[in-house]
Amino acid sequence: DWTASVIKQAEIDKYLDGGKDFIDEEQIFADIEKYKNPDKQQVRDILQKSLDIKILTPAETATLLNVEDPELLHEMQEAALEVKKKVYDNRIVFFAPLYLSNLCVNSCKYCGFRAENKDEVRHVLTMDEVRDEVAAVIDEGHKRMIAVYGEHPKNGADYIADSISTIYSVKRTTPTGNGFNNIRRVNVNAAPMEIADMKKLWRAGIGTFQVFQETYHRGRYAELHPANTVKGNYRWRLYAMHRAMEAGVDDVAIGALFGLYDWKFDVMGLVHHAWDLEKHFGIGPHTVSFPRMQPAPGSFLSEHSPYIVSDEAMKRVVSVLRLAIPYSGLIVTARENPELKRDLINHYGCTQTDASSKLGIGAYAKKLKQEENPDKVQFMLGDQRSLDEVIRELAHDGMITSFCTAGYRCGRTGDKIMNLLEKGVEGKFCKLNAVLTFREYLNDYASPETREIGEKLIAQELQEIENMPFFTDKKLLPTFRSYYDRIARGERDLYM
Ligand code: SF4
Repeated sequence: DWTASVIKQAEIDKYLDGGKDFIDEEQIFADIEKYKNPDKQQVRDILQKSLDIKILTPAETATLLNVEDPELLHEMQEAALEVKKKVYDNRIVFFAPLYLSNLCVNSCKYCGFRAENKDEVRHVLTMDEVRDEVAAVIDEGHKRMIAVYGEHPKNGADYIADSISTIYSVKRTTPTGNGFNNIRRVNVNAAPMEIADMKKLWRAGIGTFQVFQETYHRGRYAELHPANTVKGNYRWRLYAMHRAMEAGVDDVAIGALFGLYDWKFDVMGLVHHAWDLEKHFGIGPHTVSFPRMQPAPGSFLSEHSPYIVSDEAMKRVVSVLRLAIPYSGLIVTARENPELKRDLINHYGCTQTDASSKLGIGAYAKKLKQEENPDKVQFMLGDQRSLDEVIRELAHDGMITSFCTAGYRCGRTGDKIMNLLEKGVEGKFCKLNAVLTFREYLNDYASPETREIGEKLIAQELQEIENMPFFTDKKLLPTFRSYYDRIARGERDLYM
């Protein structure tokens, strides 16, 4: 029985505390109830703690979740933006999702890939097809990718490790003939794995490992994930990141699918998750995601969930998460429509997004639009714009695109990067690398309109860098200037 053979109970049990996991539902409900109608000063003290880049306790998070006063909500939004500025400044990181397989043994009620959806045409990309897909993604200008896999013996750890190596191996000459472009960081969204399998991915060069709990509420989780599937095991999923970290993968990403259950409960679940990772490994999640449920082909749930999250509630989700886990990256994806996405990035603290995304299996190489293969996607996109269009819009708003992948290649991962982020040091390196990678993008892929806006932005960034004592004190400026000039002359992939 494959399902039973996947789950290693001992790898769950070792992290339990007196037989209990870290989601104490009664306590979460009690906290949400107890901190209703919070006092203004109490909220302001909590905001100050976030501004000092300190992770908030669950009680403090519950307090912020209960703020309804418009004045305080506005202060929260401003503080969230200030925290983002301190840690991530005006950078926005782009990535491309790549779906490698829609084979899945699970039957999540909200997903078009679920095993019982017999309308779905199933396919696992061959390594030749992976190369074709990656080539098409690189030709858009991308340098970071998240590879997405269903849960199936045919796309287990060995397949994932092979595909990571294949993705890294693809190099494309840039359109201007200036050197080559490639994917420099491969993150993975896949089923929870045992420690031995996580080690295989680590050896293959995985960036961040991402697993979403979907919902932290056990009862709702059980309703949506049949018990006879691997995913039906709530705790196997809950401790996926603990096993990843134990295996050496120290950049891990958590998330919840908003719309499955009460959004306040799931924000609390994410914060408890971050705390338990801190407790065991001294570091929280590298990123947090909060995809919102969208219509899925063959799924009726998206139209019938009583927990659909409004745009206004999404803004509060982002504000509270930005404040509660201030050092983590926050990801808003192309599931959302362009207006909300722009707002969440510019005004609420999101730090990463995707663009020019295609969710169909093999859709990049075939240049398929969403409408051309709606039956082969897991959900529908709200934003189908090209990378160039989204970069241009955000550059217009003063946000510089970063394709920086230097951190993990320089060993700045896990607790090292978290400490540097908390002290605001990593952000300084990111600033330099953002300019270097944006320079590459403007030279190689930008449309004339994007280049025009981008050149103004990069000039401002260069001026800021020249005037920041940090760079002068650390004697970083001569190296940076030389890298910038070499990139402008055609060299690629120089980083600090
Ligand atoms: Fe499979 Fe993931 Fe879809 Fe569930 S959500 S059916 S695990 S692909």
